[in-house]
Amino acid sequence: MYEIKPLPFDKELDGISKKTNEIHHDKLYAGYVNKANEVGDELGKLRDEIVADKAPGGNTTFSKLRGLKLGETFAVNGIYLHEWFFGLLGGNGDYKKATELSAAISEKWGSVENFIKYFSECAMAARGWAVLAWDLHEGRLKQYNGDAHDHAVWGCIPILVCDVYEHAYFIDHGSDRKAYIEAFFKNLNWETANEMFKKASAISL
Ligand code: FE
Repeated sequence: MYEIKPLPFDKELDGISKKTNEIHHDKLYAGYVNKANEVGDELGKLRDEIVADKAPGGNTTFSKLRGLKLGETFAVNGIYLHEWFFGLLGGNGDYKKATELSAAISEKWGSVENFIKYFSECAMAARGWAVLAWDLHEGRLKQYNGDAHDHAVWGCIPILVCDVYEHAYFIDHGSDRKAYIEAFFKNLNWETANEMFKKASAISL
């Protein structure tokens, strides 16, 4: 069973309102948790029926199994991406204490400021998610975008995750996504990201 994790910060952030955080966490994120559990229950029943030859199996045009499998990756990634995103907020945007991560970012992009500028434009180009990830295949930092929860590069561990769906900013900034991305970086907890980077970069495939 997936469980709804509480927000790790006070709901009112600088540039991301209490109302946005409440809707985003209490309705949308919680909705993915509930749906992932519902899909898991249905898949469990269907799996038993398939194994017992009491239900049809998969079909790529339409089958109950296909529908549930699509729903499963969408809902589960919806949970994980939101938990990464919320888990990074509540900070003060100061990257100086993120020693290892800022060094690795500076090595690749020249400086953290350069990276923020580039990442912000990537976030302007995404329809769902902008992610800085540790790519286990390459053993290096990579920036990837996803237009939906289930657009992802496998074998990557997210380090920075920015939700750029309109629900993340429209109440506070209207169509000005740039202002929201600035607020994201203003509230970013770089130390949390640094801890994730240290763990991720210690893994090799
Ligand atoms: Fe979201």
